[in-house]
Amino acid sequence: MTHLDALIDPGTDHTATTCLACGADRRIGHLAACPANHPEATDLLVETPAPGTRRTWLISGLKHNLTPARRHRFSTQIPELHWVRPVDKPSLPFSVGALVNEIVPRMGITKGLSAIGSNALASVPVTDCGCTDVWRCRCDFDTHPFRNAHPDLWPEYPLIGFKVRYRSGWSLMWLLDTGLGAVWVAEDYTTTPAVPIPITRRCYLDWCDTCPGHAKPADGGEPSPCACRCHQSTPA
Ligand SMILES: [Zn+2]
Ligand SMILES: [Zn+2]
Ligand SMILES: [Zn+2]
Ligand SMILES: [Zn+2]
Repeated sequence: MTHLDALIDPGTDHTATTCLACGADRRIGHLAACPANHPEATDLLVETPAPGTRRTWLISGLKHNLTPARRHRFSTQIPELHWVRPVDKPSLPFSVGALVNEIVPRMGITKGLSAIGSNALASVPVTDCGCTDVWRCRCDFDTHPFRNAHPDLWPEYPLIGFKVRYRSGWSLMWLLDTGLGAVWVAEDYTTTPAVPIPITRRCYLDWCDTCPGHAKPADGGEPSPCACRCHQSTPA
């Protein structure tokens, strides 16, 4: 991925109309390397918050992650989420449950969904400014007059988290619930050793305390002991 200096620049000049990603002004449009020039691009910026973990800020969440201040506002809410596991049949707030039922199948993560994080109080203020060019919108800058706009123009969108299991990694997906749907803002991917085989669905999803201990092979036949590490007794 190409490194663009303007992505790191906190930016204070609200009168400028340069692209917040590449720094080009309106006459130029965007630099060749700018993701705004690539309609098929999905990633805005990749960070490494911890060794082995990649945080990808997604272009689908541009309005919430295009500047360092926006990414900061967003990431400070992540630790506030309360996590529940589908296996425990949790009673989620109605709006969260409805959103989960709608978007989890669409994201293709039903089989790997290990936990859901939500908290009505973990929300991010968002400008409802109507700017058509999101790459140049500075309405949330401290120096911009929109900062003092009516509170109705500053809706708070709650954060939602999905913890998803893959064969050789974990994904934490971070979204905002806009009331009309969900906006996918970022994803943390951590690579892990491949899961041992055979493994029960419950151990695969890290619900080890609920695993019956035996995995049925996909092709039928005799169940074999679940190979998850949690079943190995630790030597005294
Ligand atoms: Zn640009
Ligand atoms: Zn704006
Ligand atoms: Zn296990
Ligand atoms: Zn197991």
